[in-house]
Amino acid sequence: MRIKMQGYDNRIYRKTQIENTMNRLNSLKFKVTELRIKCEKLKKLQNEKQCKNCRKTISQGEEITFKDPARNIEHDYHKNCFKSLLSNLK
Ligand SMILES: [Zn+2]
Repeated sequence: MRIKMQGYDNRIYRKTQIENTMNRLNSLKFKVTELRIKCEKLKKLQNEKQCKNCRKTISQGEEITFKDPARNIEHDYHKNCFKSLLSNLK
């Protein structure tokens, strides 16, 4: 009877262990998904250009890239910021 009881306890113990492992695995999967989303956000941020004039990010289609061939540098501006820069030069 005692041995039978122990076997039963062992089964419960193993079942709990498996459940714990599954829970840990699921939370790891969740963390991986979270990390993947963060990575995609970071990649997006890297691709976003910053306006040289107002220091704000430029959404796609709003940018004007000004190339400085002498120093081999590219500057990004908002279309409107670039326009106001040009009008300031006049
Ligand atoms: Zn700007």
